[in-house]
Amino acid sequence: MYQVVFILGGNLGDRVRLLEASAGMLVSHFGPLVLNSSIFETEAWGGKSSGNYLNQVLVFNTTFLPEEILDIILEIELKMGRKREEKWGDRTMDIDILYLGNKIFNSERLTIPHPYIQDRRFVLEPLTEILPDQLHPVLNKTNKELLKICPDKSSVKHFKK
Ligand code: AMP
Repeated sequence: MYQVVFILGGNLGDRVRLLEASAGMLVSHFGPLVLNSSIFETEAWGGKSSGNYLNQVLVFNTTFLPEEILDIILEIELKMGRKREEKWGDRTMDIDILYLGNKIFNSERLTIPHPYIQDRRFVLEPLTEILPDQLHPVLNKTNKELLKICPDKSSVKHFKK
């Protein structure tokens, strides 16, 4: 059994409802939620998006294999109406696997831990809120330490509904 850590995010549509609906679909596949971060509001990152993102980190226990987990999140993204137009562009729902316990996994389709954790404040803020002392198995630093040295200075704030 591993702890799988997801980040969910989107900047289109009814963002809170889409986060809630995606969380519900994750629960239907993975069982009860183990931990959830607050919802954070984040400046659009890396491209030309038209609105701010909401992001949230969710944690589940699972015995699924890495690529089985990927297939589940891709299916949920599609159901949430994700359109793959531009790599860093607008999206209704993006779900990424950040960690799968302390596993290191690389295939053509999947890299775990997610390769950009350390570069993105919108990932590290919610992660550090709920898993500050979890160790990144490749970088050998905790989430809290990664946040402290993160070069990304974009604005990431608690979202008030
Ligand atoms: P994007 O929609 O830009 O987040 O890219 C999604 C694609 O990235 C997926 O279809 C995966 O094949 C690939 N990918 C690689 N590593 C990961 C990961 N840790 N979590 C989610 N997707 C990943």
